[in-house]
Amino acid sequence: MNKHCIVVHGGAGTILKSTMSPELEKLYKQGLMDALTAGNAVLEQGGSAPDAVEAAIIQLEDNPMYNAGRGAVFTHDGKNEMDASIMDGKDLTAGAVAGVTHIKNPIKLARAVKDKSEFVLLCGPGAETFAKTQNIVFENDAYFYVQQRYDQLLQIRDSGATQMDHSDKAQPQKKFGTVGAVALDLHGNLAAATSTGGMTNKQYGRAGDTPIIGAGTYANNRTCAISCTGHGEFFIRAVVAYDISCLIEYKNYTLKQACDEVVNKKLVKFGGEGGLIGLDAQGHAELVFNSDGMYRGMKRAGEDFVLGIYRE
Ligand code: ASP
Repeated sequence: MNKHCIVVHGGAGTILKSTMSPELEKLYKQGLMDALTAGNAVLEQGGSAPDAVEAAIIQLEDNPMYNAGRGAVFTHDGKNEMDASIMDGKDLTAGAVAGVTHIKNPIKLARAVKDKSEFVLLCGPGAETFAKTQNIVFENDAYFYVQQRYDQLLQIRDSGATQMDHSDKAQPQKKFGTVGAVALDLHGNLAAATSTGGMTNKQYGRAGDTPIIGAGTYANNRTCAISCTGHGEFFIRAVVAYDISCLIEYKNYTLKQACDEVVNKKLVKFGGEGGLIGLDAQGHAELVFNSDGMYRGMKRAGEDFVLGIYRE
């Protein structure tokens, strides 16, 4: 079974078929296909799992329909503060950034932190100073201004609440999501990556689970690669990605058993809405969520693309 494989997600939340137009659904699926195609092309040529997940995430960051890079949601102060992380399952190296505001592709910066610095997590202005030393592309405010996103902020700005962008019950057609990818390459190595604008109306420099290695992202060849999406505070407290890895490493759970335990039992008890994608070194894949839906897709060597949005 050990063929190359890439799995992506575009966020979990209240995604209902009854409120989705066929045109919109097509666009979401095209975004997932583009990401899978980019990641699969890397893997097909014998490229590494970290390169594959980075290539997939870049596609989704450049797509304004997803809450990452160009489509990042707005903070309470009307800014875009993005988080991203990447981990290599072969050597357990990892890189992450939190609260970056003008980086076109935060995942590229996370990758540079992993490969070119002695650190794991860089935040805010410091991360952007580092970016300047790494030929990372910056964009201005206009690039990140997506009208629907700004409208989402206006709807809840004065309520004091934060919101997963895809859990907007009043405006269900405007649900977009955090993005993630996990890959298994031809050499049997795993990697995981996640990128997000976080939650609409967040403030005080809030960061979610996405840049936290072990919470939103984790990869270890001995166990699995995981990328999460959901209400970040719960995912941090439940240390979701690493918890799944631990169940496999210490308790001999299968990937499926571990994902079920953490997403459908532990997180549900916590009240944590969301989901994740996972792959193990044998190529078993899990795409699980306890929300109404999760944008998701998978491409395994020699097999058709598999795409999903709702609970099917
Ligand atoms: N996990 C992200 C955060 O809390 C949100 C999401 O997955 O949509 O920042």
